[in-house]
Amino acid sequence: MISTTCHCGAVTIEVARAPETLTNCNCSICRRYGTLWAYYQRSEVQVRAAPGATASYVWGDRMLRFVRCATCGCVTHWEPIAADGGERMGVNARNFDPAQLGAARIRRLDGAVTEQYLD
Ligand SMILES: [Zn+2]
Repeated sequence: MISTTCHCGAVTIEVARAPETLTNCNCSICRRYGTLWAYYQRSEVQVRAAPGATASYVWGDRMLRFVRCATCGCVTHWEPIAADGGERMGVNARNFDPAQLGAARIRRLDGAVTEQYLD
């Protein structure tokens, strides 16, 4: 298990294991956030925050919620909005110390156009 927090410490993120790959997506939201996504099953991730300590953003087809710390603004993760929206979620690996990520390979995803990996 590895764990980290947002910059101010109001949100704690725990994941079951270090990611093997990270995704650098060029879609309109990911390029602005500067996120590096590690994908997990919901059961592998614990996000701990006091009520009201996070804020979220929804856009486009409204399938996902992007969650950030309401105090320091660090994007922590995205998750499906619908209860039946699937088990997959994305954790922003930028919140982890690089040493915690080990040798995870960074893959470039063309989320802007083709939804295909570029490697
Ligand atoms: Zn924070």
